[in-house]
Order: sequence, then C-alpha cells, then structure tokens
Amino acid sequence: MKIVLYPDPILRKITPRVEDFGPPLAETAREMLEFMYRSKGVGLAAPQVGLTLRLFVFNPSGDPAKKEEEGVLVNPRIVKRKGEAYGEEGCLSFPEIYGEVRRATWIRVEAQDLEGRPLELEFQDFQARVVQHELDHLEGILFVDRMEPAEKIRIRRQLEKLEREYKETRAAGH
Ligand code: ZN
Repeated sequence: MKIVLYPDPILRKITPRVEDFGPPLAETAREMLEFMYRSKGVGLAAPQVGLTLRLFVFNPSGDPAKKEEEGVLVNPRIVKRKGEAYGEEGCLSFPEIYGEVRRATWIRVEAQDLEGRPLELEFQDFQARVVQHELDHLEGILFVDRMEPAEKIRIRRQLEKLEREYKETRAAGH
C-alpha cells in the first residue's frame, strides 16, 4: 500500500457502497490498519490508499496494542450528531499540515462490520472527530475544505507546495 497525497483526484471520488463481504475485504482492512499504524496515523480511509471502497479504519490512540480502540467501519453514515467544537487535525494525505476544524462532539453512526452485519455505534470528543474526518474521505471531502478562511490562508503555501510536487511527480511519469 502507498499513501495517496493531495491533490490526487482519487481523494475527491465519492466511494460506492461495499457489496462484497468476506475474506478479501477483511484482508484489505487488516492491511489498512497495519499501514495506518506504520504511518503513525489514527485513521485511514480506503481512497487514501487508492481504493474506491466505502470503508475506513481507525484507532484514536494510534497505539496498535490498544485493540479496544481499533475499529473498521463499512458503509458508515452519521444518523445523529450533537455539539460543536474546534480541534486540530492532520491527515496522512497532507504531510505536515495541521489546522483547526469544527466538528460535532458526539455522533451516532450506522455501519456494517466486515461480515456485513449491521452496527450502531456512538462516538464522542476525539473519537468522534476521527470518525467524522474519515467518513468525509468517503464522500470526497477533505479536512482543508472544512477549515475556516483564516486557517486556509495560513496553510495556503503548504497546499501549493503539495500541488507543485504532485505535478512534478506526474510529469516525471511516476
Ligand atoms: Zn484524512
């Protein structure tokens, strides 16, 4: 697996629902979790590794030993949300870029597990933030889209640098 960096258009795709459950899907999720831990991330959505699947993995602790905080959500959607708070976010597709994003502080999510069984889960505070960030990826929405104008101005040069690097890589045929 390899991380897909901004502004690759894969990150803007709306992912189709997962219909095929079974061992290959579980294997993909396992690889994504390993990749996420290796990359020091707390969440990873399928489009970030070039897969247009409605699925993400997460562990708000970032610690592979804390299995109780680890999760995989397939075909997730937020059915209820409460509260609002700003908090700092980063994203593996935006190396070294951090910024404040407003998110709900509590959410209820309906999803499926890797066998297709229905799940209903509640998340709050940082967990809720991680899940909202990853769920956005499945809709082609990126955290920079949700930053306040002043925050966007602050990171503009860093975004331009990523855009330049992307063009150079493409021109080099990689
Ligand atoms: Zn992200």
